[in-house]
Amino acid sequence: MPKPFHVMIIGGGIGGLTLAQGLKRAGVSAAVYERDRTLTDRLQGYRVHISPTGSRALHECLPPHLFDIFDRTCGARNTAVRFFTEQMRVLLAFDGDLVADTDPVARHRAASRITLRQLLLAELENVHFGKTFERYEERGERIIAHFADGTSVEGDVLIAADGGGSRVRRQFLPHAQRVDTGVVGIAGKIFLDTARDRIARPLLDGISLVAARGGLGLFVAIQEMSGPIACLGGNEPALAGAGNLYENTRSYLMWALSAKREKFGLREAEWEDGAVLTAAAEAAMEGWARAFRDLVWLADPTTISCLPIRTSVPVAPWRARRITLLGDAIHSMTPYRGIGANVAIKDAARLTRALVAAHRGERHLIEAIHDYEAGMRDYAFRAVRNSLKAMHQTVTDSQLGLLFSRLSMRAIEVLPPVKRAMARGLGEE
Ligand SMILES: Cc1cc2nc3c(=O)[nH]c(=O)nc-3n(C[C@H](O)[C@H](O)[C@H](O)COP(=O)(O)OP(=O)(O)OC[C@H]3O[C@@H](n4cnc5c(N)ncnc54)[C@H](O)[C@@H]3O)c2cc1C
Repeated sequence: MPKPFHVMIIGGGIGGLTLAQGLKRAGVSAAVYERDRTLTDRLQGYRVHISPTGSRALHECLPPHLFDIFDRTCGARNTAVRFFTEQMRVLLAFDGDLVADTDPVARHRAASRITLRQLLLAELENVHFGKTFERYEERGERIIAHFADGTSVEGDVLIAADGGGSRVRRQFLPHAQRVDTGVVGIAGKIFLDTARDRIARPLLDGISLVAARGGLGLFVAIQEMSGPIACLGGNEPALAGAGNLYENTRSYLMWALSAKREKFGLREAEWEDGAVLTAAAEAAMEGWARAFRDLVWLADPTTISCLPIRTSVPVAPWRARRITLLGDAIHSMTPYRGIGANVAIKDAARLTRALVAAHRGERHLIEAIHDYEAGMRDYAFRAVRNSLKAMHQTVTDSQLGLLFSRLSMRAIEVLPPVKRAMARGLGEE
């Protein structure tokens, strides 16, 4: 008979909670330790795109009724992806021809971040809030996790799911680096019930992307809510008074403008000041089409935020132990491919499979963790590299590079077979 083991998951974000759901479903003993005290301790107001891969992995980890609620709480599917110049001329447009989403599980979905987290927390009894992990120690096959409040817990496996600034990673793989790219994004939310008729039509039914002269990139996406669902996805009492950043029931458009930080001329002390951020975004977009510039002042001022863009640096393989990592804790990436959460969810599903096989005695625990890590390093660091490349393509100072990319898009637009192949690629991602 295999020896039963207990899993300690540090971090109750998207990846850690998906793992906790998967382990619970399979009857493996696990507990989550999360530093936040409430749902609104951290910015989580925006949407997150869940790809077919992410959807499949969530389906594997969640009990069927929770997956069903997840499906129902997702916004209406974005049917179009369009690439524009800053003068709003279309370079390349996929209008409803991305993929026929015939699979009821493996589909593209637009989820509200806060709703997804509420849903991943649902029915988990063993989540401990207000537990900031500080360090671990190993005693033979046992691991002790110590928290900032002076308490500690003991278990057999420790999972780092504590996001980009992971303290577990800093102790476990001190040479693994996460670096600042020098790019920052200013983002805002426009509620559609009050402003829909003031937004240009081409921005209202999908995702719009601009790589502009002067090293600026704009991302615009619509989050259409299908209506509040009583059990989950509505604004719960815990969210009352938390402001519009956490508003979770009204449809909205979100935009994010990014550039090297010196382009915005912002001091770090100003990153929290909505009025300063609005002025910086307006100034940066001078000379752009009115329809794009309008997005800045139409945004609810309380939702304007600024985010530095960081990325992990791929790490060489390490020896597998009873400590492992998932999601941003090991492979944080720039948001320019919109896949970080999906990779974290995929990790969680694969790690669930590995730990369940060890729990059932089908695999040796360390071998199962080794195989999980080998696969993860391969697909996740590829995603890190691709996301960094996408950032450089969007935020580019190279006039020649921009010209080449615009010419390529125009060429693809008039070559249906190439366009169909690209649509397939975008659809599968
Ligand atoms: C602007 C932006 C847009 C994005 N859009 C998309 C998108 O559309 N699609 C997509 O797939 N990805 C997207 N991503 C990436 C995605 O958000 C992350 O990859 C994903 O959240 C990673 O999940 P995670 O569970 O690894 O980490 P997180 O979700 O960051 O969770 C980590 C958790 O650990 C907790 N924690 C941290 N330190 C400690 C500690 N010491 N002790 C205890 N707990 C701790 C944190 O409070 C948090 O709850 C985007 C990212 C950004 C910045």
